[in-house]
Amino acid sequence: MNSDKKAAILAISVVIPLTAFSLWLSEQNKTESMSVGGHKILVTFYPLYQFTKAVGKDKIDVSIIIPPGIEPHDWEPTIQDIEKMKDADMIVINGAGLESWITKITSVNPNVMIVDTSNDIPLLEKDSNGLDKTTKDPHIWLDPVLAKKQIQNIENGLIKLDPQNANYYQQNANNYNTKLDALDNKIKMDLSVCSKKDFLAFHDAFSYFSKEYGLHQHTIVGGLDPETEPTAPALQQITEDAQSLGLNVIFTEEAANPRVSQVIADEIHGKVMVLSPLEVTDKNIDYISKMEQNLSNLKEALCS
Ligand SMILES: [Zn+2]
Repeated sequence: MNSDKKAAILAISVVIPLTAFSLWLSEQNKTESMSVGGHKILVTFYPLYQFTKAVGKDKIDVSIIIPPGIEPHDWEPTIQDIEKMKDADMIVINGAGLESWITKITSVNPNVMIVDTSNDIPLLEKDSNGLDKTTKDPHIWLDPVLAKKQIQNIENGLIKLDPQNANYYQQNANNYNTKLDALDNKIKMDLSVCSKKDFLAFHDAFSYFSKEYGLHQHTIVGGLDPETEPTAPALQQITEDAQSLGLNVIFTEEAANPRVSQVIADEIHGKVMVLSPLEVTDKNIDYISKMEQNLSNLKEALCS
């Protein structure tokens, strides 16, 4: 073998893998240096991602625990999901019973800070599917006034985790609360011109919202879970109720079978629109815009 050939073989067998190896090493270092100093925060579902991101911005690294498209009410983590939580500095939960599985986290991460965003929020009781047991209603995020309290709890958690940036978190929380105040005012203004107060949501997600804005929520399915469907006699009763309330819009939502709302709407010669509980929304969709879309649809239902 001449020396040129040897050099070529060396280049292929040693130099190229070495180059690839050093590239791989530098990628590893990059990943590590990104996580150093950036606080690793996990949140359980979509609204908490938006709220936490709004307060922590680029000082934190936020991921959602419940996978996209999965409805949070009956989600349970696998052992692998729990394992992924072992490096988190802080986990932000909705609370009010939505994440009853959270106690399992102590098996892999006993020192993690858990921020329960329902702290200091007076919770409504929810009759659990007609059984003789009551649970708390978790849907606090759909009331912008209560969302401000969730923001406050997140701000407190971040300041405890990273006191050096307290002013930064406080300022960001204040800015987001200004947006939530504007949303609250817009909901009051827009709905004040509507004569109807009754609406038919898909599942029981809007009790706090209704209480805040003086509305009456009726639901197609009884419990908290949007993936259930009403029985035929229940559907008949709901249709009669919708007729007697003079409703023209029947709501559906992302995780529900839209056929159910369509059957009722056909009977009353109304139409189906979305009233989103913001439970399975893409993390990059803005919370305020999504709530404004709900308001626009609700306004059509209550003013028509
Ligand atoms: Zn729900």
